[in-house]
Amino acid sequence: MNRIKRGSTIVIGAGLSGLAAAHALTERGLPVTVLEARDRVADPWRNRHPALRLNIHRKFAGLPGQAAPKSDGTYLKRDTVVAHLERYAARLNAPIHFGVAVTAVVRIGTGWRVTTNASEYEAENLVLATGRDSIPDMPDWPGHDAFAGELLHVADLGDVSRFDGKRVLVVGAGNSGTDALNHLSRHNPAEVMVSLRYGPAVVPKSIFGYPIHGLARVFAALPNAVLDPAFRLTERLFLGDLRRYGLTSHPDGGSTRLLRDGVTFAIDEGFVAALKAGRFRIVPRVEGFSGDTVALADGSVYRPDIVIAATGYRTGLEPLFGQLGVLDENGRPHHPMGERDPKRPGLWFAGFKPIYTGFFDAAGIAASRIATGIAADARHVTHSKTSDMRAPHVAHQRPAPADAS
Ligand SMILES: Cc1cc2nc3c(=O)[nH]c(=O)nc-3n(C[C@H](O)[C@H](O)[C@H](O)COP(=O)(O)OP(=O)(O)OC[C@H]3O[C@@H](n4cnc5c(N)ncnc54)[C@H](O)[C@@H]3O)c2cc1C
Repeated sequence: MNRIKRGSTIVIGAGLSGLAAAHALTERGLPVTVLEARDRVADPWRNRHPALRLNIHRKFAGLPGQAAPKSDGTYLKRDTVVAHLERYAARLNAPIHFGVAVTAVVRIGTGWRVTTNASEYEAENLVLATGRDSIPDMPDWPGHDAFAGELLHVADLGDVSRFDGKRVLVVGAGNSGTDALNHLSRHNPAEVMVSLRYGPAVVPKSIFGYPIHGLARVFAALPNAVLDPAFRLTERLFLGDLRRYGLTSHPDGGSTRLLRDGVTFAIDEGFVAALKAGRFRIVPRVEGFSGDTVALADGSVYRPDIVIAATGYRTGLEPLFGQLGVLDENGRPHHPMGERDPKRPGLWFAGFKPIYTGFFDAAGIAASRIATGIAADARHVTHSKTSDMRAPHVAHQRPAPADAS
């Protein structure tokens, strides 16, 4: 006999995507258990720069059933985000098992078995919400292990005031690289070099005092053929011709890169002014490290005190799902935002697709898709069984509220 509870779900990850999915499932009376590797919610946010503010407008920072706090104005502060998530988790009508890291996942019968550092869990459905920025991606540059200076990933940036008086090399200027550069522009490093292949698609945070992200729903409704040139024009009009400062643009436009490749826009809040003032300088790609120097692609060498690798993140999903054919070549799910995968019943992903309105809004969309899908599957099973028993009028039984373990 199958002992997996009908309609049961294990959500892996108690970040905003996992919590939103769990909330949507409980709203439909479905049994759910959340497993979280860390000892508390919002740990990734707590580890980010203390001066960080969300780069999305507050109106898109709500979660299903809980609006974003108004205390910070347009952009939520890091600690407000933490409090927002803590409150959401505290109100969740489902158990969250902290300190439980999932190490393996296998399909069993009509469900899934999840192995963790603590014990095994089984459920009919699995929601993977372990974060798109799970593993900092540090390039394997020749000689980096023996670098005499400090080499860190932007994920470990911490308080940038500690770089005052230091020579800093930032590698990459995507979303998080530009975020670090914005912060550095407000401090006093001795020198800042920015190593790039292509400049990012940069947008100012606001235009004539209006926060540009407030228009995210409009952007989301327009095609790339309109948005790519429109963002290029916006950059040119409001930030100037950045090629003069060494910032070459990628052949594809910012909107195409966001929606096709998941590369988010860089939001300028000081980086461009520092570049124009000559405080920051663009240099070629990093080739390798030797002693206390960094070799660049044009043959020059540079002697930084600190190298900040803003070189992106990986999902870290390969060890769990590498064999299942559900990931693309970058380790991202083919169905990243709560879409049903007809080949893998009961397997859902949330939080793996950047959209214009940001990850909070995406979490709500994914949560709704997942809960609707799981509720429909549970009804379908119930209906089939009751049909078999020739008692179609008992089709909608509410599953017992239970732990999925
Ligand atoms: C510097 C920086 C700034 C950002 N700013 C913004 C912003 O302004 N706006 C925005 O929308 N987004 C921003 N992001 C993106 C941000 O990461 C997401 O918005 C958000 O954190 C995604 O939430 P999530 O729940 O999908 O993933 P996460 O917040 O990463 O949560 C995933 C959770 O899963 C847990 N987990 C992972 N693996 C396992 C496992 N094997 N077993 C159990 N638990 C596991 C983790 O511990 C974590 O708690 C930023 C990212 C960075 C790096």
